[in-house]
Amino acid sequence: MQNKLLLIILDGVPHRNWRRLFGNLEGWVQSGEARVWTHRAVLPSISASCYASIHTGVSPQVHGCTGNGNVFRLSQPDIFSQVRAANGVTGAVAHSFWSEFFNRHPFDYVRDIEYDEPESDTINHGRFHTMTGYGHDNQMTPSDVDLFATLTNLCLRFGLNYGLLHTCTLDSMGHRFFHDCTQMDHACFVMDEMLAPFIPKWRAAGYEVIVTADHGQDARGHHGGRDPLQQESALYYFGPASGPSEDTVIDQLQLAPTILSRLGAPVPDTMQARPFLT
Ligand SMILES: [Zn+2]
Repeated sequence: MQNKLLLIILDGVPHRNWRRLFGNLEGWVQSGEARVWTHRAVLPSISASCYASIHTGVSPQVHGCTGNGNVFRLSQPDIFSQVRAANGVTGAVAHSFWSEFFNRHPFDYVRDIEYDEPESDTINHGRFHTMTGYGHDNQMTPSDVDLFATLTNLCLRFGLNYGLLHTCTLDSMGHRFFHDCTQMDHACFVMDEMLAPFIPKWRAAGYEVIVTADHGQDARGHHGGRDPLQQESALYYFGPASGPSEDTVIDQLQLAPTILSRLGAPVPDTMQARPFLT
């Protein structure tokens, strides 16, 4: 496999906060280096259900993950397994749900916190965190610059073809402070500034980059249902492919077949949605 792509998921950011507060990403849209569309999550617009749908390209009604309390090893093929089938190298820097869905369940704190498994059928290089003890007053998330650096480290050391990064910082902040407040203005601003220096480095290393969220959050910090604030985020794309018109709403089930087609990996029959990049 020659192609390379990174999927960056900032958990729980509504469309309006992307477009209003992420000045670096919006600057690259303005300069023509990135494109942006609206991205609509599956239902329920709950984190675990969305992670499973983003990576398998099938709905929660098919993969069966109905929420964060129902996490298990999924049975459908996913981006990791298909990249491996095409002899690509995969990596993930993410919440432990991603390891449980796509590699091993239940999560073993010692065995699964960090692994390098070149022969794996799914995730070759995993760096995970569990956020155990997470709650309103202690969000238990790592610093995002550490996560971005860890992904970059894996890319440089292991030549990842596909890398996933997922961080819960803004989702946790939003549940605590809600989304229309000075704390969230600042949190989104800091995230944008932390992320920005990495994007040119990843592009220079030959990666296409997608930055998006799993779902939004409404004015009370809630998500799970159909409210557009809960269901809709933005999706930014850096790369040479052509995409649809700016007013297109991208269905979450399109992500997996799109990423596989960009990488030149086989798209399984279970992924019925149409790729949005050509
Ligand atoms: Zn989430």
